[in-house]
Amino acid sequence: MNKVNYSKETEKILEQIAAGAGPEEGQAPRLLLHSCCAPCSSYVMEYLREYFDLTVFYYNPNITAEKEYRYRLAEEKRLIEAYNRQVEEGSFTGMHSTAKARRIKIMESPYDPDNWYQAVRGLEDCREGGSRCFVCFETRLRETARQAAAEGFDWFTTTLTISPLKNAARLNEIGQKCAEEYGVPFLPSDFKKKDGYKRSIELSSMFGLYRQNYCGCEFSRRQQDPDRE
Ligand code: SF4
Repeated sequence: MNKVNYSKETEKILEQIAAGAGPEEGQAPRLLLHSCCAPCSSYVMEYLREYFDLTVFYYNPNITAEKEYRYRLAEEKRLIEAYNRQVEEGSFTGMHSTAKARRIKIMESPYDPDNWYQAVRGLEDCREGGSRCFVCFETRLRETARQAAAEGFDWFTTTLTISPLKNAARLNEIGQKCAEEYGVPFLPSDFKKKDGYKRSIELSSMFGLYRQNYCGCEFSRRQQDPDRE
């Protein structure tokens, strides 16, 4: 079976939007962007903000310890503020950031780890990249799709495909499934392609962003650092 080039799929949709396909003449489609953290969202926001009216959705009940969760959220907000200042001042430095870039909004969900632990019960010992991660992706994407439908967004997607450690094909399949369930289109992606991952490292360094050394859950933290309490 031929592998889908999700990066090309994104490009095709962006070309249609640039050519005027949208909810109404001159209006950018609204996209709810699930974000796991500021570093991963840095390139994705830079890439998409010329095409969409973006709202970042911070829903990550997988993150272990509320302190870590709040710190990643604060970094996300700090980056969005910096991007919005660029829009106000017209001071773009990025490869995709031009005067067409729009302000970005943020929507946050309450910290809700209990439901996440329930969803991954029995999968605690899976290595990162295995079945626990697929359940984790689905938990976050389903809630994003649900919110997108409830709030009347035109599209939804996630920053997660920027990570070389995450299965982009599986993420796209799950996104598509949630799209069908909630009736909101999922923007397919493989954001690490076209030097997207490399650019996220550059942007993280440019904005001095906190880059955690583990994915998020307590199991990934233990896998990374077995001696840590
Ligand atoms: S390793 Fe990351 S994607 Fe996998 S279950 Fe943990 S937090 Fe979720």
